[in-house]
Amino acid sequence: MYDILIVGGGPAGLTAAVYARRAGKSVLVLEGTGFGGQIASSHLVENYPAIPAVSGADYSEALTAQAKALGAETQFGRVSGLRREGDGFVLTVRKKEFEGRAVILATGAKHRKLGVTREEELTGRGVSYCAVCDGAFFKGRDTAVVGGGDSALQAALFLSGVAKSVTLIHRRGEFRGQEANEAAVRQRENITLALDSQVVELLGENALSGLVLENRAGERRELAAEGLFIEVGQEPDNGLFSQLAQLDEGGYFQAGEDCRTGTPGIFVAGDCRAKELRQLTTAVADGSVAATAACQWLDR
Ligand code: NAP
Repeated sequence: MYDILIVGGGPAGLTAAVYARRAGKSVLVLEGTGFGGQIASSHLVENYPAIPAVSGADYSEALTAQAKALGAETQFGRVSGLRREGDGFVLTVRKKEFEGRAVILATGAKHRKLGVTREEELTGRGVSYCAVCDGAFFKGRDTAVVGGGDSALQAALFLSGVAKSVTLIHRRGEFRGQEANEAAVRQRENITLALDSQVVELLGENALSGLVLENRAGERRELAAEGLFIEVGQEPDNGLFSQLAQLDEGGYFQAGEDCRTGTPGIFVAGDCRAKELRQLTTAVADGSVAATAACQWLDR
């Protein structure tokens, strides 16, 4: 039996592993998609204190290596169940079961879908949710990004260095991302803004060839684009754990800054927790708080 089972190998979960290992606890981190979490696909992180610029991939690799070097064990696989048993908890991954005295849920959030018809059919055929992962396929081509936050601004910046053109489509007139990102976007010659506009149709037989945009006045126009990068935010995926950790109406875990849930022994950390600001800094802060709370609970 492990002292602490951590669900999610993003910045919150891996930071929790670092803190728990340094407190002498045995730790298993379970990850279903890829260690490092969503930040791994961020082109550049420029707002992490004392690190003026780092690629998301480099940051994730360093944090994963740090946790492993401290002795955190890792297991790849999507968790399909969590139950209380005796003095601890049991997590199921495929047919395997892992026992722990405490659990930290650091499940992050998943990409929100745009909700346009044929989005699923054309995913991988022009539609993507990760510019850093898939941008290279669109070298010298016309592309578009949809969204108005930092993810969309950063995706547009990254693509502008690869693609022939990038149209950044946002449903409102103002962006919600950092000013520095917006300023950089506005300076790039091959980025065009399509504000107050929505994607209402995806064109192309077997692969994306263009989009139909509709502006606030209801006017429609076609835009040539072989790549569409959807960056319209994140949403939680915590339903599986709702018996033991209460969710708010948005599906985020209800826990305060102490990262404790209503179930003794279960803690939550990072973007999966109800909070005001979801950033790398707040994710690692949660990881350290949750791990310290879990260690105190184990030593009680
Ligand atoms: P976000 O800030 O929630 O922005 C999502 C954007 O998508 C919003 O502009 C929203 O429009 C738009 N949107 C949502 N649903 C839509 C729909 N159905 N159709 C069209 N547009 C839709 O998400 P994010 O950009 O992924 O950022 C999430 C968090 O991570 C933020 O706190 C961000 O600062 C942080 N982040 C940080 C970095 C970094 O520091 N390097 C990089 C990426 C992200 P409205 O504005 O109209 O709501």
